[in-house]
Amino acid sequence: MIRKIGMRDESTKSVTDRERRRVVAALLAGGTFAGLNSTPSSAQDASGVDGLKNPLLWAMAYKQTAAEFYALCHQAYNLARMRIDIAVAERKSGDRPLAVITDMDNTILHAMSYWGYLINEGRDFFDDAIWDEWLPNNLITSVPGSNDFFNYCNGKGVDVFYVTNRNQGERTFEYALAHLRHLDFPIDAEDKLFVFRDSSDKSPARQKIEETHEVALMLGDNLNDYRRDYYVNDIDERRALMERDRDDWGTKFILIPNPTDGHWVRAIFGDSEPPPTDENRRILKDAATRVAWDGKS
Ligand SMILES: [Mg+2]
Repeated sequence: MIRKIGMRDESTKSVTDRERRRVVAALLAGGTFAGLNSTPSSAQDASGVDGLKNPLLWAMAYKQTAAEFYALCHQAYNLARMRIDIAVAERKSGDRPLAVITDMDNTILHAMSYWGYLINEGRDFFDDAIWDEWLPNNLITSVPGSNDFFNYCNGKGVDVFYVTNRNQGERTFEYALAHLRHLDFPIDAEDKLFVFRDSSDKSPARQKIEETHEVALMLGDNLNDYRRDYYVNDIDERRALMERDRDDWGTKFILIPNPTDGHWVRAIFGDSEPPPTDENRRILKDAATRVAWDGKS
């Protein structure tokens, strides 16, 4: 059974809306709209970004090269395995079957070449139209430790459910399932994959799974992967909600680091996929200098 659950909210737009927004943003930024396959003729693209000053460089250099980044992924999945071992050991006959719920993008799948392409194109903000063009090519790679972990769960009789927010139109579910199968993630039935095309709210999937399973663990790269009440715009409120649940990190919730995208971006800009404008670049600088020495005292 193909499961598709939709619930529109203010954070998500149709592909058409996003495309229109991208064109308008490019025009408002003073440039001309460049097609997906265009190549900037100089160090600056239509948005005026100097390729050597692209603010994505540090984050993506870290994701693409730092052994520490990959070690954090293994650390998360090693901890996840420990938690599953405990849950399996504590299980009693008659208990509901155990489940693990995981996000997909940046939790089990990395999209390195997508981000590398953006940077080579002189783009410094997430670009939804390019993402939709890149995604069906199965250029994803598995997050270190993830594949072994989910196959370990499978071998222990723990059901793995994949829950993702994606929207590539009518073929969204097909593309997501292809990603899982391309990288040999265990999925024995298509109703183990929940795809939310029109909403970032994953709670309907969690509620559905909890009807039949004991959820032992949840994995993600975004607070929204765990609880919907984390979906707030204010940076400090978001942080406070996370602190409220401090005991859940590493026990119920396993988090993979992601310095390029997610609702932490939304908390800064009010939009998970802000357009590439100079105003947003100023907002980004303000966020990065929220605390800064004055150079004097
Ligand atoms: Mg994710």
